[in-house]
Formats: sequence, C-alpha cells, structure tokens
Amino acid sequence: MRYIIIGGSAAAISAVEAIRSIDTRSPIDLFSDEKTPLFSRVLLPYYVAEELTKPLLNFRSLDFFEENNVTAHIGVRVGEISADAKTVRTETGETFQYDRLLLATGGKAIVPNIPGVDKEGISTLKTMADAERVYHLKGRNAVVIGAGSIGVESCISLKRRGMKVTLIEQLGQVMPTVFDGEAAAIIKEVVEEMGIEVLTGERATRFNGNGRVQSVVTSSREIECDMVVLAVGVRPDTALARGAGIEIGSLGGIQIDKQMMTSAADIYAAGDVCETFDVARNTHFINAIWPMAIEQGQAAGLNMTGRRTEYGGSVRMNSIGNFIGFPAMSIGVTHPQECSYVETDCHFQEIKSRSKNTYKKIILKNGCIVGAIFVGQTQKSGIISVLLRKQVDVTDFIPVLLSRNLNFMDILPLLRRNADKFTEPEFKELMDTGL
Ligand SMILES: Cc1cc2nc3c(=O)[nH]c(=O)nc-3n(C[C@H](O)[C@H](O)[C@H](O)COP(=O)(O)OP(=O)(O)OC[C@H]3O[C@@H](n4cnc5c(N)ncnc54)[C@H](O)[C@@H]3O)c2cc1C
Repeated sequence: MRYIIIGGSAAAISAVEAIRSIDTRSPIDLFSDEKTPLFSRVLLPYYVAEELTKPLLNFRSLDFFEENNVTAHIGVRVGEISADAKTVRTETGETFQYDRLLLATGGKAIVPNIPGVDKEGISTLKTMADAERVYHLKGRNAVVIGAGSIGVESCISLKRRGMKVTLIEQLGQVMPTVFDGEAAAIIKEVVEEMGIEVLTGERATRFNGNGRVQSVVTSSREIECDMVVLAVGVRPDTALARGAGIEIGSLGGIQIDKQMMTSAADIYAAGDVCETFDVARNTHFINAIWPMAIEQGQAAGLNMTGRRTEYGGSVRMNSIGNFIGFPAMSIGVTHPQECSYVETDCHFQEIKSRSKNTYKKIILKNGCIVGAIFVGQTQKSGIISVLLRKQVDVTDFIPVLLSRNLNFMDILPLLRRNADKFTEPEFKELMDTGL
C-alpha cells in the first residue's frame, strides 16, 4: 500500500498517526507547501502577540516524520492529481503514485475585493508566512477587518504588542457566527475595556496610501493606520479536488461519505477542506476548527488502511476565553434560524439564564440540544457538548442543565436512560471519568 497525504497540518498529521496505528510499514509521502512543518495554526495569534516563540508553536516534535517513517516533502506544492492514473504531480514536475490519497488541504484566507487591498502593510493571518509578515510589520496603528474569532484574537495580539487597534465589523455584532447578540455585547465590552476601538455595522470600502497602506476608509469615517489584518473568513482550498473532478458540495467544501471518501475511489478528504455531517444542524456543514480536523483526519486515516470507521459527524465549538481573559464559548448552532431552514416542522426553544457576570443559553430542537452559549462560566460545557453530540432528549432536565452547580451526578439518570446512544467503550469511559 502506498499512501499520499496532501497538507501538513491538523488533519494530515492526525491521519498519519491513525495510519501508523494500524499499518507500520507501508510508505507514506506527505506534501506540504508551507515551509515550516508541524506548527499549530491555533497558536499563531500568540506568536503575533510576541508571547510564544516559533519553536513553542509546534504541536508535534520535529522528529515526528522520522519517527513515523514518513517521507515529508516540505515546501512542496502538489499541482495536479490524476484520479484515473492514481498519481499526484508536484509543481516542480515530479510524479508520485498512490494507492490511497488524502486531501487535507485546509482552507484559504479570503481576501475581500476592496480597492487598495494589495497595498503593502495589509495581510491575512492564516499561514506561518502570514504570521511572520504581520509580526514584522512596523507601526503604531493597526486596523483589523472582520470580528470573527481570528479577527478578535488578532486585534488583541496587536494590542498586547502596544499598538493602537481598531476592529471593524460590517455586521451589527462581534463574532456573529459564534455568539448571539446578547453574548456578543458582553464580549465587545470586554474587548473595548482592553483599549481596542470596536466599530460594528461599519464596512471598509477603500485602503488609501501611496504603495503602503496609510488609512482605511469605512462607510462613515477614515482611520489612519500603518497596518491592516484581514480576517473576513476562510474558504475550503478545493483547487486540487476540482481539478481532479471530485464532487464539491453546495457550501464549497469537498463532499465525502461516512468513511471520509470523496466521489473519487481511494481519495479521502478531512479537515477544513471538506463538508461533513453536522450533528446539530442535521445536514452537511463546514466546521473549520482544529479538533474537528483532528477527528476527521483520524477517521480518514483508519479508513485508508482498510479499517472501516464511520465518522460520527462534527459539531462547531468556539472558545475565546484564553484571549479575552474571560470565559466565553459556544457549541453547535447559536441562532435557531441557522437550522430551521433545513427542517421546517421543528419546535425550537431558547432557554436563557443571565446574572450580573454570566450569560447562558441553550437552544433545543424537539427537546434535544442543538446549541449552547456560555459566557462568564464555562466549566460545565462538556456535559452539554456530550448531550448535544448524542442528541439526548433533555426536556425534563432543563432546570438542572441551567443550574449554576450542575455536576455529572445530576445528569447520571439521563445518561443511563440513553445508554443505547453510546458505544460501549464511550459509555464506560463516561461512567469511569465523569465530565
Ligand atoms: C489564526 C488562526 C487561529 C485559529 N484559532 C483556532 C482556535 O482557537 N480553535 C480552533 O479550533 N481552530 C482555530 N483555527 C482553525 C484551525 O487552525 C483549523 O481548523 C485547522 O488548522 C484545520 O486543519 P486542516 O489540517 O484541515 O487544514 P490547514 O490547517 O488549513 O492546513 C492545510 C495545509 O495544506 C497545505 N496545502 C494546501 N494545498 C496544498 C497543495 N496543493 N500542496 C501542498 N500543500 C497544500 C496548506 O498550505 C496548509 O499548510 C484557527 C485558524 C487560524 C488561521
């Protein structure tokens, strides 16, 4: 068996580990066009903030490839796949044969079509090269465009470096896909207390400057700046898949089956590049987060060896707590209308509890949790996450779930009643360790 893996990040490395857990001998060739191997993208904002040096960004030791008997082609971009000939061709013209191939090509940062966006001093923050560019940009005033997780983290990183930072978001709230308006208002206040100016409902329309960016023009003002970070989103990097005639889903990610296989025989996909079944939405979705890429890489890797493994589906989870110094996270859907377009005959219920320093919201669909938000107190989110993933009917446990002192023993009867939703090892682990 000859394995080829394209990509060198979460999904790719997780797939290598899964393959090697079964097949210790077959050759694996891994191609990554990024020159720095084995760094965690999640930690890039800490690098920009000058809080972690480059070696501390690694999520596996540098001898990982050697230890796992992987031929790593670092800094090498694959330019073409032939699904018929079962070959990949690098941009330097070399051809490699595979029996099983994994596409773990992740996402590409979106560069918005705003006049002047190609000026010097403007960068996305996706790759290590981006992070180094942002790290080395000089100046006192920064503007970050887009207030999703990466935008909020970027502006805090730059603030921690002593810069004056303005965050611009065209929608009416920060982190619009992660939090509802009430939670977002709390987060905005925390971010503003750090000394960051947050402008919501405002759109960047032009970048001014003679070669180098000097200001950002918005719908209602002009903000002088020395640098701009673009954080308007990431889209699946499907160029190779499209070139190989692989089916792409309606959301723009690679379509896969339950064993992570694409429409082309023996070509698998995992991570940010693909659409997977979303447990909360009950439909396909792109949950572009690190833990899902790890899970999917693992499932793909096992299937590539022939060990049939169904991927149970993904759930979005976002936490901003470490960055804002205030616990805040969400799981699954945060606005019921996000999934009501898929299923019309559903009963949605939003249950909220609010105190001076905390905000909690649980969204139910026909009695099962499909989403939750925790601000100010997140310790018990693991319980909610398990109930969501297993789609347990929690109708008669709602007051318990919102209680401040929720603990594992409180939901034990509920878990016992739903033991059939868990595999035996899952249930045993749950009972042995609690949550
Ligand atoms: C700044 C930042 C902060 C983040 N913070 C969080 C967080 O706090 N929590 C969280 O859960 N998630 C976070 N994420 C998201 C998380 O990093 C991604 O979900 C995860 O990296 C996805 O892993 P992946 O393996 O699918 O793809 P990627 O990490 O995108 O890696 C894909 C790799 O494939 C390479 N590649 C693509 N095409 C080719 C080709 N043709 N040839 C060779 N190589 C190729 C790419 O260059 C890239 O190196 C963050 C992302 C960023 C950018």
